[in-house]
Amino acid sequence: MHDYRLAAIPGDGIGPEVVEAGLEVLRVCAATDGGFGVAIQAFDWNSENYLLRGHYIPDGGLEQLRTFDAILFGAVGSQRVPDDVSLWGLRLAIVQAFDQYANVRPARLLPGVSSPLDKGDDIDWVIVRENSEGEYAGHGGRAHRGLPIEVGTETAVFTRVGVERIHRFAFELASQRPRRHLTLVTKSNAQRFGMVMWDEIFFEVARDYPAVKVDRELVDAATTRMVLKPDSLDVMVATNLHADILSDLASALSGSLGIGPTANLNPSRQFPSMFEPIHGSAFDITGKGIANPIATFWSVAMMLEHLGEARAAQRLMHAIEETTAAGEHTPDLGGQATTRSVTAAVCRALTG
Ligand code: ATP
Repeated sequence: MHDYRLAAIPGDGIGPEVVEAGLEVLRVCAATDGGFGVAIQAFDWNSENYLLRGHYIPDGGLEQLRTFDAILFGAVGSQRVPDDVSLWGLRLAIVQAFDQYANVRPARLLPGVSSPLDKGDDIDWVIVRENSEGEYAGHGGRAHRGLPIEVGTETAVFTRVGVERIHRFAFELASQRPRRHLTLVTKSNAQRFGMVMWDEIFFEVARDYPAVKVDRELVDAATTRMVLKPDSLDVMVATNLHADILSDLASALSGSLGIGPTANLNPSRQFPSMFEPIHGSAFDITGKGIANPIATFWSVAMMLEHLGEARAAQRLMHAIEETTAAGEHTPDLGGQATTRSVTAAVCRALTG
């Protein structure tokens, strides 16, 4: 029997609440599967400790994290630390150091959940987000701070290697889905350099995947298409920033931000991949016991799939669907369930 070594980074806000729930479900899933075990180590890298220690990740922390099979992440962000400091200090420090360049975000309406869209049942998408460069490359600077001539630049960086590998990843993924349809999301009308290259390389890679139907959509038009014609989309590939925005929309259209999962993949498996809910710290509901843990459970299912435990991943997805179908909904979905009651229901479905 294989024992996976997993790192858990609960982080801030509702992160610890949903990660605790996710680990409970994972343990039950492993125990009832019988084919694998999990050994979990938790890391207290969060904003409270940043304020005490002056860093999110200690010296040698990434080297230690690297030895794990996968990472389950909660959320980072605190009212007491500027958002750019917390994001770059923890989440992006891991994503970039471990070259987790493919960010995969599935969205679909789970049974029993209602969508703000009439055609919500038609939502069945995967958003592939470029996760290593683009608008999040960290290139830019500020000068003449506080003076009238102050300047700030934020440069989006696109490299041939970076663009080609994410498009190839998206084509591979699209070719494994029944509809085999990939939409290129772009803004190459207004942005004439990196974005035009982004488009060109997409159509170069497309030649290697004749079975995948392709089309191209400007990011602004993509938002209306998601709302008005959800069934016309299958897999979308978009830049770091565009996909970040589209996936919040996708999550809300499929019922709540508390549902959407994410995989930050290092497809070469040179480094561990990281799995997390799309949502952030959600301070407004922190500590109330009502955070929706479904996004984290779905992220755990993606982690199991990545580890090669497809059967367990499927069982977990079924247990999640059984739970949502039975109306066990937290307040974000219009119900009165709690994090604990949803977790217990998923565990029951796994054992039953
Ligand atoms: P970030 O910038 O870290 O991505 P954000 O600004 O997008 O965060 P979130 O913290 O993700 O904001 O949450 C936005 C709102 O959505 C929250 O205030 C909360 O009400 C709701 N929400 C997010 N996640 C959940 C969840 N798991 N369960 C219930 N409600 C949630």
